[in-house]
Amino acid sequence: MSLLKGKNILIVGVANKHSIASGIAASMAKHGANLAFTYQNERLRKKVEQLAEDWGSKICIPCDVGVDKEIDNVFSLLSKRWDGLDCIVHAVGFAPSNELDGNFVDVTTREGFKIAHDISAYSFIALAKAGKDSMKGRRGSLITLSYLGSQKTLPNYNVMGLAKASLEASVRFLATSLGQEGHRVNAISAGPIKTLAASGVKNFRKMLTYNANRAPLGRNVSTKEVGDAATFLASDLASGITGETLYVDAGFNITAMGSLEDSS
Ligand code: NAD
Repeated sequence: MSLLKGKNILIVGVANKHSIASGIAASMAKHGANLAFTYQNERLRKKVEQLAEDWGSKICIPCDVGVDKEIDNVFSLLSKRWDGLDCIVHAVGFAPSNELDGNFVDVTTREGFKIAHDISAYSFIALAKAGKDSMKGRRGSLITLSYLGSQKTLPNYNVMGLAKASLEASVRFLATSLGQEGHRVNAISAGPIKTLAASGVKNFRKMLTYNANRAPLGRNVSTKEVGDAATFLASDLASGITGETLYVDAGFNITAMGSLEDSS
C-alpha cells in the first residue's frame, strides 16, 4: 500500500532508532513518502543522517526548536529541494530532569515550566507558523505527539503534563486557525515506550509494567504502531479528521482500574 506516495513530509524529533519519530519515519517511508529530517544538534547529526539514508532520504537539517532562526532555515532549505510540503511531524518534548523526579509542588520551578512549555508545546506552533506557506494549496497535515499526563495525573510526569495539556489545546487552536486553508492538525497520545526522552522520567520502567498490566490489550505499544497511526493521519484516509487527539496506548486511557484478580 502506498498511502503517502508523492507526499513530502518533514519529521522533527529523530534522536536514534528507538525514537517514536523513527517508528513514524519507517512507516511513512514504507508508504511511499518523501522524507526530510531535522536533528537537534551536532551530536545527533551522524546518527540521524544514517537513519535517514535507511529511509531513502538525504535531507537532514539542523534545528533546535527553541530558536526561531533555525526553524526558518529549515523551511527555507526545504523550499530549495521540494516544490511544497504536505506534512510536518513534531515529535519533540523536553523538561529539565529535576522537574521529572519528585512531588509536583516541590520540584516545579518557573524556569522549568518555561522550558517545558517552550520546547514541548510552543515549538509545534512555531513549526506551523514557519511551515504553513510551504503547505499552501496542498491540504497539509500537522501531527504532534502527546501523552495521557495532559489529562490525568501520574507520578513524576509533573510539568510535562501541563506542557502536553497546552500542546493538545494548541492542536485545537491550530486546527481552527489552519482549517480555512484545508490543513489538518492532530495529536497522537502514545502509551509509554522506552526512548531517550522517556528515560528522563523517574521510575519509567515501573510505568511500563503498570501500563501493560492495566491496558485492555495487556501490553504496551510499539513505535511501529504509533508510526502506522501517524501514516493514517497524514494520509487522505484521514481527510475529515482534525483537532483530535488519537490514543495509541493499547486502550490504557479508557480504564479507571486494572484487574482485581490480585486484590484481596
Ligand atoms: P526521543 O528522546 O527519542 O525524542 C525526543 C526528541 O526531542 C529527540 O529527537 C530530541 O533531539 C528532540 N528535542 C528535544 N529538545 C529539542 C530541541 N530544543 N530542539 C529540537 N529537538 C529537540 O523520545 P520520544 O519518546 O520518541 O519523544 C518524542 C515525543 O513523543 C515527545 O513529544 C514525547 O513527549 C512524546 N511521547 C513519548 C512517549 C514515551 O513514552 N516515549 C509517550 C507519549 C508521548
